[in-house]
Amino acid sequence: MKRFLYVLTLLVFVLSLSACGGLGANGGKDAGFVGISMPTKSSERWIHDGQNMVKEFKKLGYKTDLQYAEDVVENQVSQIENMITKGVNVLVIAPIDAEALTDVLEKAHKQGIKIISYDRLIKNSKYVDYYATFDNFKVGVLQGQYIEQKLGLKEGKGPFNIELFAGSPDDNNAYFFFDGAMSVLKPYIDSGKLVVRSGQTKFDQVATLRWDGATAQARMDNLLSAHYTNARVDAVLSPYDGISIGIISSLKGVGYGTPSKPMPVITGQDAELASVKSIIAGEQTQTVFKDTRELAKKAVEMADAVLKGKKPEVNDTKTYNNGVKVVPAYLLEPVSVDKSNYEKVLIDSGYYKKEDLEK
Ligand code: BGC
Repeated sequence: MKRFLYVLTLLVFVLSLSACGGLGANGGKDAGFVGISMPTKSSERWIHDGQNMVKEFKKLGYKTDLQYAEDVVENQVSQIENMITKGVNVLVIAPIDAEALTDVLEKAHKQGIKIISYDRLIKNSKYVDYYATFDNFKVGVLQGQYIEQKLGLKEGKGPFNIELFAGSPDDNNAYFFFDGAMSVLKPYIDSGKLVVRSGQTKFDQVATLRWDGATAQARMDNLLSAHYTNARVDAVLSPYDGISIGIISSLKGVGYGTPSKPMPVITGQDAELASVKSIIAGEQTQTVFKDTRELAKKAVEMADAVLKGKKPEVNDTKTYNNGVKVVPAYLLEPVSVDKSNYEKVLIDSGYYKKEDLEK
């Protein structure tokens, strides 16, 4: 009898669980189905972006399909094709290659699917409805200004040696970051207060395909052995934490990071855990924090509004021309972070826990 009651209780429990599952965690609302296509899990920030969006969409009663394409363009295209087949109502996409989605988005549009460009602009498609991102030019300005301030360039100090790195040439953001940084640094290069011993100052010469840290490390190895055997590099403009890590490994390989040969000023972006730890340890100098919680919220608001036939809030209708249209955008504010303010910006805001940075 006891056993029978036990089995019965278990059965009732299982049945009620599956009923809940059928209704969805939001108690039965079925707001729609969202396909979220992210570039890669190899960088933490995209993992946070994906998780935060799923959380926010669920709160509003949406079902989600979140996919990562591991930086392979063809994967991303076929993942989006699958989402279209599965019947999503809206796509939120951070493209790997900005120009590779024209055809697949045409298909999406024919099915009446709305499209939100996430963090990175999707180019050459008139079907991109809205764009949620950060002020990407300002990200670069913050990196450039950090170098300017740390070296004391405004006070007339110098000349200093600097090398420049940029992001992936198929990512529209990479140009904005580089242009923003160069808007601050170029006058000093022109006046000779900053010297680029390699002579590599054009975007195409300093770009890093797919933001790959190992590619950046190999380039830094070459720069150091070709131009710095008898000179010191004082600053490195790096657009992204993963690239900064590669650059730092290369510098360590030739003895930087000791009292007699301190690390140059090295910028970064994304406030990834390893890089914040590196900042605390005195290796990387700075990063740019972009709160992925806020970006996720914005993108979710946008998707929700377009699906309900409403106009989402935007604060930029001029900057992001994708080749066929200017995509209305909402730009969030990036924040410069170094050893002096990481606790306030990253811990007090709850982005990281103190323990995360101690491990
Ligand atoms: C993002 C950056 C990121 C980079 C590499 C860019 O498009 O805006 O936050 O560091 O891609 O993933």
